[in-house]
Amino acid sequence: MVENLVIIGSGPAGYTAAIYAGRAQLKPLVFEGFSAGGIPGGQLMTTTEVENYPGFPEGVHGPKLMQQMRQQALRWGAVLIADDAIAVDFTQYPFAIASADLLEVKARAMIICTGATAKRLHLPGEEKFWNNGISACAICDGANPLFENADIAVVGGGDSAVEEALYLTKYARRVHLLVRSDHLRADKTMQERVFHHTQIHIHWHSSPINVDGDEVLRSVQIRDTQTGAVSDLTVGGLFYAIGHTPNTQLFQDQLELDEAGYIKTQGKSTATNIPGIWAAGDVQDCVYRQAITAAGTGCMAALEAERWLSTDAIASGEGNAIAC
Ligand SMILES: Cc1cc2nc3c(=O)[nH]c(=O)nc-3n(C[C@H](O)[C@H](O)[C@H](O)COP(=O)(O)OP(=O)(O)OC[C@H]3O[C@@H](n4cnc5c(N)ncnc54)[C@H](O)[C@@H]3O)c2cc1C
Repeated sequence: MVENLVIIGSGPAGYTAAIYAGRAQLKPLVFEGFSAGGIPGGQLMTTTEVENYPGFPEGVHGPKLMQQMRQQALRWGAVLIADDAIAVDFTQYPFAIASADLLEVKARAMIICTGATAKRLHLPGEEKFWNNGISACAICDGANPLFENADIAVVGGGDSAVEEALYLTKYARRVHLLVRSDHLRADKTMQERVFHHTQIHIHWHSSPINVDGDEVLRSVQIRDTQTGAVSDLTVGGLFYAIGHTPNTQLFQDQLELDEAGYIKTQGKSTATNIPGIWAAGDVQDCVYRQAITAAGTGCMAALEAERWLSTDAIASGEGNAIAC
């Protein structure tokens, strides 16, 4: 039995691709995941309120939003399997996928939506204050009333850290940028903006080692990486900006990836380097990393796959992208 379309991943990208492919009567098979690269439903399952997804003026609980996307995919005939893909072979056609529960599936077309994982520091008190003061996304959580006029710490020294620090000055009284070394790795222009920003204070040679608070985060303990001295910084928020790991382990020798491990897509499309395979969401996006952009590219991938499957593109070996 060969499936028309197999989708790997069940975040906003995977479910949106499933909704569009289901409506196109492709009866997509979705490996929703189980424990590899997150949980079924993806990153939004680990948050509380999502305030920037269009259509929800009062905000929506992350898990509820994902449950609704899942219901919508089921309504349009997607077949959902709560299982991890553990091996793929894109050198053969139809493509082959094997799952942790020993399922072996062949597919005419595939959409990869395995997302990315925000790196965490795994500080002793981190779990308690995750979503209650600790976050890994300033755009997602910066406007939370918890951070209004508060002192906020941002950890990191690269482009993301600098961008997050600048972004958070809209809400915070003061942003403390905690940098492990004596220099920033960010783009020079952005560095200049940070150096001259009156609300940003840079702490060189500083690494967080613990967090404390009551119901919400109240302080972060910092170690001086040169002297070993430990001090407390009173903050209402702590943002990790230490990078993301794209969930592409499985595709390492199969698809073209960039230096950071993200799947490379071509031009304005979600096409990968292999005809018949598309990638959508955070797994191919190190820039925007939002639910709406993941859903948007999931839609693109499904439309591209549907168009590709319904022409004789397979026989002619034509690429994945669709023209205007
Ligand atoms: C705490 C937090 C809060 C956030 N808040 C917001 C917000 O308010 N607004 C916003 O727009 N964005 C927010 N984001 C970002 C948003 O969640 C992501 O941009 C979005 O979820 C990316 O969607 P995705 O479909 O690409 O991947 P993900 O959501 O990462 O989902 C990936 C999926 O792939 C599955 N998977 C991985 N490997 C395998 C495998 N081998 N086999 C099968 N399945 C696999 C996982 O189980 C998961 O279902 C937040 C992120 C975090 C971490």
